[in-house]
Amino acid sequence: MKAIGLLSGGLDSTLAVRLISEMGIEVIAVKFTSPFCQCDSGGCCHAAEVARQMGLALTTFSKGDDYLDVVRHPRHGHGVGMNPCIDCRIFMLRKTKAYMEEIGAAFLFTGEVLGQRPMSQHRHAMEIIERESGLEGQIVRPLSAQHLAPTEAEVKGWIDRDKLLGMNGRSRKPQLALAEEYGIKGFACPAGGCLLTDPSFSAKLRDLFAHREKTGMRDIALLKIGRHFRSGESKVICARNGAESDALRQRAGEGDLLFEAAECMGPVVLLEGEAEEAAVRLAAEAAAAYADGDAPEVSVKCWSRQSERLLRVARPDRSALQPYCVHSAKA
Ligand code: SF4
Repeated sequence: MKAIGLLSGGLDSTLAVRLISEMGIEVIAVKFTSPFCQCDSGGCCHAAEVARQMGLALTTFSKGDDYLDVVRHPRHGHGVGMNPCIDCRIFMLRKTKAYMEEIGAAFLFTGEVLGQRPMSQHRHAMEIIERESGLEGQIVRPLSAQHLAPTEAEVKGWIDRDKLLGMNGRSRKPQLALAEEYGIKGFACPAGGCLLTDPSFSAKLRDLFAHREKTGMRDIALLKIGRHFRSGESKVICARNGAESDALRQRAGEGDLLFEAAECMGPVVLLEGEAEEAAVRLAAEAAAAYADGDAPEVSVKCWSRQSERLLRVARPDRSALQPYCVHSAKA
């Protein structure tokens, strides 16, 4: 018998996979990658390592442009940030259901713990998620099953309900104790690695959605880089270090302008959108404000793929940029 386990690589899903595997079920691990995951490097986070250690097959799905629509207009709303947790779970489970049917798996399971996450892991939310993903009675939650109605897999005797657990609430102690029992170490993202729950990132995303009808993965990638300022419909992104400067140089599009102090070290600044006078001034001032030294005037190189020019800018105090900053009280 085959089952699909959603495996983020965090502790809970790792424990759930281990628990079901120990019942003699063949587990196919499924991992969703997301442009909003801050722990993903190489696209698969810790899940690949967990699957390797347990000798499991791992299938990876990426949340693409259709997921951006879910984040923009979630039917069940956002959490404290831009996290549409209920819709996000429905999105993943619908795709997993299709995959389950494709490979002939009998059921699927997750590492969810009842009452652990305020938005998506309370009883009512779990019911909505099951109903709207078309998986009523089919999602096994091995860590909390004793608090939940028996699923098809338990009723039909595919798995032994008595071996499922009764974890409940926000404490992590039972999971840590079980991890110790299993000898599981080095699990990733205990508090979740989703940028959509981050207030600063959420502010940048809200600003993006407010000013762009259509967004793509490049826009999301840019949200992860630098300090963001807005001037009308134009956006100014100021790198915070050398790596971000390189990233902005590489990601600059056809119509974008780049700025950088010409005679001293300083960050690269990207101007996206209309190069109106106020936006150009803001971008040049950001380049000057964060350039090395304390000279009252800074020469700033402004270039695009087609042209280059030099601007002489009075170095502003960084606090003067604050009213334009889209994501934090402190620029
Ligand atoms: S925290 Fe992020 S990845 Fe997790 S369910 Fe919520 S939106 Fe989805």
